[in-house]
Amino acid sequence: MFATLSDRLSDSFKNLRGKGRLSEADIDATAREIRLALLEADVALPVVKEFVAAVKERARGAEVSGALNPAQQVIKIVNDELVTILGGETRRLRFAKQAPTVIMLAGLQGAGKTTLAAKLALWLKDQGSSPMLVAADLQRPNAVKQLQVNGERAGVTVFAPEPGNAQGVEHGGDPVDVARRAIEEARRTLHDVVIVDTAGRLGIDEELMQQAADIRDAVDPDEVLFVVDAMIGQDAVRTAQAFLDGVGYDGVVLTKLDGDARGGAALSIAKMTGKPVMFASNGEKLTDFDLFHPDRMASRILDMGDLLTLIEQAEKTFDADQAAKAAAKLQGQGGEFTLDDFLEQMQQVRKMGSLTKMLGMLPGMGQFREQLENFDEREIDRIQAIIQSMTPAERAHPKMIDGSRRSRIAKGSGRQVSDVNQLVDRFFEARKMMQQMARGGAPGLPGMPGA
Ligand code: GDP
Repeated sequence: MFATLSDRLSDSFKNLRGKGRLSEADIDATAREIRLALLEADVALPVVKEFVAAVKERARGAEVSGALNPAQQVIKIVNDELVTILGGETRRLRFAKQAPTVIMLAGLQGAGKTTLAAKLALWLKDQGSSPMLVAADLQRPNAVKQLQVNGERAGVTVFAPEPGNAQGVEHGGDPVDVARRAIEEARRTLHDVVIVDTAGRLGIDEELMQQAADIRDAVDPDEVLFVVDAMIGQDAVRTAQAFLDGVGYDGVVLTKLDGDARGGAALSIAKMTGKPVMFASNGEKLTDFDLFHPDRMASRILDMGDLLTLIEQAEKTFDADQAAKAAAKLQGQGGEFTLDDFLEQMQQVRKMGSLTKMLGMLPGMGQFREQLENFDEREIDRIQAIIQSMTPAERAHPKMIDGSRRSRIAKGSGRQVSDVNQLVDRFFEARKMMQQMARGGAPGLPGMPGA
């Protein structure tokens, strides 16, 4: 998502580099390129117009002197304006004063509602809530089952109409009644959040809107979230408008941000509907989900990286003891940094999620996008197999791994000797680099202090 937009925007700033001050012509030319970049990314026209006008105006008024050069000034202005159209501040979930907080999901079929319900439940559960999922989508065959399966994966309770009885799916069931009973049940069983999944249709229709509105009236939700597939482009804005008129909602959830669509929906929806994007979904796994932070998204689009998200993920999964031990070793305390440590670190990183996704959050990685996309996550399995074919002594003292040991290790792990050579070389290189960094220093990342 946003790859082309990122590239186009960074191209539009290139012409400004090295300029001492911005002329009217510079500003016009850059504004034109930004306009094209946004239109190509499928951003809605009214949003593009407002955006470009704001950038132009601010660029004209920008101070010539100051800490930033003209190119940096324009980037900063574009960044600020991106944050603004993405909704400004992060909008967090509002909880009811009296439990349970009721969250209702609405959207078209296929938008990713059912998946999202489970993601949201898991997310809330991780924060100490005790959520209950409610299957009020009795339209789509299998929707109830799907919610039950996902709920089980997330380890949360699912309230569903019992198949076969009067409210059962086979009998057409009454989703309003199911939702109402679910709230009572949640109150009784002390669940503090109830997430109601409602039916979607392939297109917008009266009956769908009416049913969603009826459920809304029956459960009086604290938050209605409109779930929309970011890959459907301009249609996302149209659908968002229709749901706003038909059902109304408090916030938007964008799904499938991992897709390679142009991303205009994400950039238009908050501005066009006046409702904030609250969450973003970026994959099929239940953990591919997070709060939507306009500022982080903007800096990702501008390839300034998203270090905050990266750090948060690291904090969630990192084993602090292990990390401290490894750091001490790199500084020459507590023994030498060995191949075992190397493997353990790689596995830690892997626990944080897809390596490709994580590397993509580093500043300046835009230029390596192709290599990143081609990175094979299984590489870590191969490295693991090789290291596990070594003896404990070899892992602790990699210098002893000579030619004959290498061919034995290669055989044992089903790899080529050249793979083993490469791994050992890489280990020594990595160790050297990490030791340098641990000593406070040199080889930084592009765009980072110290680089
Ligand atoms: P619903 O009809 O709105 O309930 O949609 P579902 O939850 O059944 O999702 C439709 C399809 O989209 C399923 O195949 C999901 O696995 C997939 N999906 C949902 N969210 C995401 C996402 O963020 N990224 C990707 N790649 N796929 C998703």
